[in-house]
Amino acid sequence: MKITCPHMGNLYLAIEALLGDLGHDLIIPPPSSKKTLTLGTKYSPETICLPLKIGIGNFLEGIELGADTGLMVGGGGPCRLGYYAALQQEILQDLGKEIRFIVLDHPREDFTRFKAQVIPLVKAGGVRALARGLVLAWEKIVAIEKLEHMAHYVRPRESKPKETTKALKGALQRLRRTNTVRGIRRLCRDELEHLRDLIDPNVPQPLRVGIVGEIYTILEPFANLDLEERLGYLGVEVLRTVSLVQWLMDNLILSSLRLYSNRRLLDYAKGYLHAAVGGHGLESVARTVALARQSCDGIIHILPFTCMPEIVAQCILPNVSRDYRIPLLSLVVDEHTGETGFQTRLEAFTDLLRRRVQGGLEHEVSACLSRS
Ligand code: SF4
Repeated sequence: MKITCPHMGNLYLAIEALLGDLGHDLIIPPPSSKKTLTLGTKYSPETICLPLKIGIGNFLEGIELGADTGLMVGGGGPCRLGYYAALQQEILQDLGKEIRFIVLDHPREDFTRFKAQVIPLVKAGGVRALARGLVLAWEKIVAIEKLEHMAHYVRPRESKPKETTKALKGALQRLRRTNTVRGIRRLCRDELEHLRDLIDPNVPQPLRVGIVGEIYTILEPFANLDLEERLGYLGVEVLRTVSLVQWLMDNLILSSLRLYSNRRLLDYAKGYLHAAVGGHGLESVARTVALARQSCDGIIHILPFTCMPEIVAQCILPNVSRDYRIPLLSLVVDEHTGETGFQTRLEAFTDLLRRRVQGGLEHEVSACLSRS
């Protein structure tokens, strides 16, 4: 099968390893771009959230490159992700595109349906190839996250401008070509070392800003207008609170074994939110509280326009910001978000944080927080 799927950051490296072992080709769409978004926006319902629009664009570009099968995850709960695959399939069919869909829902939802979806994927390679592919994919996801986190740490401390981004790109390319567990671990160790070597020890402690919000928007640089990189070059160490490794561990492994509990999140969110609201709404509130209790200088909440779970969080977060006296910036993104305005808001926010840290702004921030 020639399979394509939407981009979500560097996840395609892991999917490619898994499908390759199963004997399929992953047709990787070009990195998401203005063209992708224009295509997706043209054929999607106007008020649907940004991830679906970019996803439609990715599928159309993947089909253009010869893909005959689309791979998507399903989803339950009060969020539109569960409808995405069906909606995308219908949109593509209406456009006359010949493509079948494999939709991976949580096996606990409907095991028979899950099995029916997985069998065509596994048929060519067999169960051993599946096991090997899963291990490789997992190792790659772990390595990607370690490298990205190191890049967040190094970027505001780098000795030569833009070197971190260049080194990270190189490391990811080499990771793509590495297909043994031992090789991936060795490469990851070496590349982390290489990234660490880019640090200038004389750079003073940078600002530390936590990022909370919707998972896709945080992980896909095109959707967040390269938020993490922009912040790095504004002298900010990014503390990304969303982790794909954690998400897979919680939602696939622990929840399949009925061992997952959101008790810790509810404890953090106590007094602000007392139940899950779908997507990462509860996580956004809980992690904002957790960050506010750490030595973090500010928080950025990023969400796609019309994202229901994050709108709930967005209404609550100003209270957290006021109670913990921590500056918060809310960034809503959609196809109309302009780069210049986005950059200006980030510069203004980091400027405020810097002046606050230097001690000159406490009374202005207090006035601001008491008004919010
Ligand atoms: S979490 Fe929000 S943006 Fe993501 S699929 Fe659900 S509604 Fe859309």
